[in-house]
Amino acid sequence: MEQRIKAVIYARVSSEEQKKEGFSIPAQLDLLHDFAHKNNIEIVKEFEEAETAKQAGRHKFNEMLKFLKKNKAVTNILCEKTDRLYRNFKDYVDLDVDTTGYTVYLVKESVVLSPTSTSHEKLVHGLKVLLAKNFIDNLREETQKGRLKKASQGYFIGQVPYGYKKLDPRTTVIDEEKAPFVRRAFELYASGLSLEKVRWQLRDEGFVYQSSNKVISHGQLGKLLKNVSYIGGLYFRGTVYSGKHEPIISDELFEKAQISAQKDNKPLYRDDHNFAFAGLITCVKCGCAITAEIKKGKYVYYHCTGGKGKCEQKKIYINELDLMPQFDEAVKAVSLAQRHIDYIKQGLKESLADKKEFSEQMRSNLEAEAKRVRHRIDKITNEYYDDLVDAKFYNEKRVQWNKDLDEIMIKLEALHHAEQKYYEEGVRIIETLKNAYILYKQQSPIEQRKLLNYLLSNCTLEGRKVSYDYNLPFSYFVNFDSCRKKYPGCDSNA
Ligand SMILES: [Zn+2]
Repeated sequence: MEQRIKAVIYARVSSEEQKKEGFSIPAQLDLLHDFAHKNNIEIVKEFEEAETAKQAGRHKFNEMLKFLKKNKAVTNILCEKTDRLYRNFKDYVDLDVDTTGYTVYLVKESVVLSPTSTSHEKLVHGLKVLLAKNFIDNLREETQKGRLKKASQGYFIGQVPYGYKKLDPRTTVIDEEKAPFVRRAFELYASGLSLEKVRWQLRDEGFVYQSSNKVISHGQLGKLLKNVSYIGGLYFRGTVYSGKHEPIISDELFEKAQISAQKDNKPLYRDDHNFAFAGLITCVKCGCAITAEIKKGKYVYYHCTGGKGKCEQKKIYINELDLMPQFDEAVKAVSLAQRHIDYIKQGLKESLADKKEFSEQMRSNLEAEAKRVRHRIDKITNEYYDDLVDAKFYNEKRVQWNKDLDEIMIKLEALHHAEQKYYEEGVRIIETLKNAYILYKQQSPIEQRKLLNYLLSNCTLEGRKVSYDYNLPFSYFVNFDSCRKKYPGCDSNA
């Protein structure tokens, strides 16, 4: 007799969605049962999650995880769409097909994810989850707006970098008097001269930094040579946005200069106690944190704190320069090659369509809510003029409801922006990963650590060797490329 595939169904509606059409649990169940029937899949259990505002958490989701753990013969999950299955990043990690061995059918998206799925499929899926999370984050950010918005739109905030001038808040142009200085500085540094030599060479060639300060200082030059503005980027709070201004130098020249910076064999600048890898690594022998300190005034050494008593590793002091290349490799491995990018963008476009549907629902909900509140305000105003309510009550209510209304309008506005940015944001993540290594090398130690925390977990130190795991979905980025290297064209027959 033919062995049928055994599966569970997971359906979910959030508390906000329950009032709306098209999100009902029966609609999801119909779709999934129909799919199961056509594909000869046996449904052994259904998990239906109807969230309420009062009851936090996903009880059915956790029940499902328990059920699957107990019933080893059932390894398949049927669900309507990505955003039905995961509400946050942790859910995604909990169901990662590589670690659990499960197969996930996202029926409406025509996606089947299993341990044997190609790296492509896993990667695109991971990105979708990452973006869904990003979408929510955007909503939050957009509600606060301000500087971030301006930066993300590609406009400089406050002062513009040396070599540019601001004509008005939205127009930054190249300052043709200063730009040649920038170009020449990059050329000289890329050619292999040291920072110190570049300073004096510029002066000898007649380049003047500022009328009051003719020779650029060591520190200023170091910062200038890692400023992404000169290749059209815009750095703001740990992220590089694409700027509206013209680049002054080419990407190639910039990259060469960053390689020279590495040869200089030291980070371009260091804020005293911001060690890139402190707090990131634990000792493999005793589990204590690896800490850093400055020796002989300038060398950074890492070692086990040994707080839990004797540790044989406590005596090993590791120069930061020995750790650096190991983390460099880690970041390099997730840098995407240009040739993969179009494929991933396609995946994003598909998920954008999903997101539109989601935000349409959200919008109509908010608009209805605004209408209700406006109606209430009108009603109580009339009642007040008809002497049906007293002034105190009227004022209290009016203030409260106007506040509610403001809140709703802010959310509507935020939704509008978040939606607009969704695809661009996705492209930005990919572009960031494309240039992950270059960006990483230019960041301050604190930001480097942030990025490493985002990418890696379980960093441990044994002797002088660092080990780590990649966080999802970045592990797929790594596999993605190694898969391509080992088996060229391995994704073409997928
Ligand atoms: Zn230790």
